[in-house]
Amino acid sequence: MNENEPILRIEGISKSFGKNAVLNDISFDVNKGEVVSIIGPSGAGKSTLLRCMNLLERADKGSIYFHGKNILGHAVNDNECRAKIGMVFQQFNLFGNMTALKNCMIGQMMVLGRNRVDAEKKAKKYLDDVGMTKFMNARPSQLSGGQKQRVAIARSLCMDPEILLFDEPTSALDPEMVGEVLNVMDTLSKTGLTMLVVTHEMSFAKSASSRVLFMDNGAILEDDTPEVIFNSPRLQRTRDFLSRVIVQ
Ligand code: ADP
Ligand code: MG
Repeated sequence: MNENEPILRIEGISKSFGKNAVLNDISFDVNKGEVVSIIGPSGAGKSTLLRCMNLLERADKGSIYFHGKNILGHAVNDNECRAKIGMVFQQFNLFGNMTALKNCMIGQMMVLGRNRVDAEKKAKKYLDDVGMTKFMNARPSQLSGGQKQRVAIARSLCMDPEILLFDEPTSALDPEMVGEVLNVMDTLSKTGLTMLVVTHEMSFAKSASSRVLFMDNGAILEDDTPEVIFNSPRLQRTRDFLSRVIVQ
């Protein structure tokens, strides 16, 4: 493994749904430990981009190199890949019939082949990290949105991901619960975990990320530091978008 090689290299990714071209020749690199926020209007293709990186959608064209290996190639196990490149969804996607603890154990046992004792130990550690120890025996229906999302983050961490993708993790939450989830993400961002975060939370993009990508119409239009994106963006389109989303 080359130390200087990016952990992730997206090269020329395109994706259409029928005649709707949703991603148009997207390329960018992510280095290990970077926290990259992806911002842009609804319909820009942000979710589709993350879903292609997690192999939930198949890109029509292009390559995604993870540690230099193209995960769109044939010899890749989708589930192993999803463990390494984890995803946190807007709608949590927890198993409704399982406790928080079981939700955090099942993937470890089924996908990684861990035994119950090890899986439980790890699940308890990460549930504790997100402040959910007290609720480990609760089912999702007994939890608030913020609590569900914290369990979902713990579940992803249990798979020992090298990269964690977040798709608007706070968009389905009542406003008073956004903070608890952003706090967990902020803490995570300082651990060296590589994170890609699609978000409308401009305060998070500004303060927690090392880079911000502005996406519109299936393309990355700007890729820069938060300082440049928020203070002196290159494009009028970025400025227009920011003036719509930032309420000051
Ligand atoms: P964003 O997350 O930026 O709001 P999406 O990636 O969800 O954007 O969607 C981009 C475009 O792709 C939209 O026009 C949407 O309708 C379309 N799209 C997304 N997923 C599908 C799908 N599974 N089938 C058909 N069209 C889709
Ligand atoms: Mg989306």
